[in-house]
Order: sequence, then structure tokens, then C-alpha cells
Amino acid sequence: MIKKAGACLLFLDYDGTLVGIKPRPQDARPSKRTKSLVRSLNKNPRIYPVLVSGRPILHLMDFFKGTPVKELCMVGSHGAEIKLKDRKPQIIEAAKKQMGQIAEIKDKIKDMLKQKECFYIEDKTVSVALHYRNCDKKELPLLERVSKFISEATRSGGLDVIEGKKVIEVKASKIDKGMAIQVMERKLFPDGGQINICIGDDVTDEHMFLKNPRGINIKVSQSSSNAQYYLNTISEVQRFLSIINREVR
Ligand SMILES: [Mg+2]
Repeated sequence: MIKKAGACLLFLDYDGTLVGIKPRPQDARPSKRTKSLVRSLNKNPRIYPVLVSGRPILHLMDFFKGTPVKELCMVGSHGAEIKLKDRKPQIIEAAKKQMGQIAEIKDKIKDMLKQKECFYIEDKTVSVALHYRNCDKKELPLLERVSKFISEATRSGGLDVIEGKKVIEVKASKIDKGMAIQVMERKLFPDGGQINICIGDDVTDEHMFLKNPRGINIKVSQSSSNAQYYLNTISEVQRFLSIINREVR
């Protein structure tokens, strides 16, 4: 199936798929091996890798410095930003409208969690993420208060709350990785002819899988998923990518 397609559009989630989850998100940098794998996939004339992440594109660009990063395609901030080869990152129109509301929520959360170092607030401009994987049980009541505030502040619509692995994130609604991969697909392959492969480990990746019914979807974990295939670990993902890179020429 992969070999028969004219080209392979490869959507790769970052955290938990290409690199291991770290206590602090800024520490989850790609290894030399990961960078060189992405570089060589990108050099393959029949493979079009696209890094897809909840992170802002600027973080990904920093992580992949020297790959060379300007040649990479990326989707960031859960689909609110895209970057094409040799282009600067862009915020998509639908996301711009919600940015003010998200900034207000972020300021209020910062206020509520003052001096609580176990929480980490990640400002992604078009979304805000509250990480609590370093917190112990005694912070749970505070987390509940913040979580209640978030659900009240987002009740009026236009914003979504995503609960991931020890993280709560607020982002513009209707914008997700699935929508972004469709935008990418139209830009890179307006006439079709490619096969899409989506690989991801978390709930937000399910949006990609749902928008890729004719392609190949791979979940990196054993939790139930809309994907047809499973890989267990990041090193299995790397092995799979190396095989594709060798076989599709
Ligand atoms: Mg992930």
C-alpha cells in the first residue's frame, strides 16, 4: 500500500511519538538519532514528513535547529499554526479570533497558581496548557478549583478544553490536528495521489486518525484508538520510520 502510492505524506506527532515525555516539556529535546531520521526522511523524494504538535512551531523550530529547519513542514499549537517548506509559521485565520480570550484565561490561572512551583503554565499564544505532572496529591483541591474556573470561563463557546496526560489545555475550538492535516494535504497535494500515514500517542492525535480514513493510522500505545495499527514504544516508531525510508524510494 505504501510502496504503491506516488508519495507518502507522513504526519508525525512529537511528544510521546518521536521523543519521550519529560517532567518539563522544554527538556524533551530530540536526540541526534531522531534529528537525523527526520532529516533523512525529509530528503527522501517520495516522503513528506510533517511534524505535528500541540507545541508552538517556534519550539519545534528550536528543537530541530540545523536539520535544516527551514526545509521542514510543521503543524503547531494543535493545528492553529502551520509552516510550509521555506516559509515562516503562520497562524490560521480561525485561531486568531480566540487569542484574546485565551490570554485572559492564562493570566487568571497564573494568578491562582502563584508560588505553586509544581504547576507549569505553558504559554502557546494560541492556547494555554497547565501541566501538573510534578504535583502531589495535596495540590489536588487547588487543581480542582483551577479546573472549575477553566470550565466556567470556556462555557460561552469558541474554546475547547483538552485533558491529556497530566495536562489541561485551553484552545480555540474547531481547530485540531485533524483539520490541520487536511490544510497541509491540500497545500502539498492539491491533486491527491499520496498516501497519508499518521502516527501519534495521545488523545489529540485521534483527530488526525479520524480525518485519515483511507490512510494508515498508528497509535503509539495500547490504549483504545481510532487507529488501525499500534506501535508500543518510541524505538519501534523509529524502526518503522527507518523501514519506510528504506523501502519507499
Ligand atoms: Mg504526543
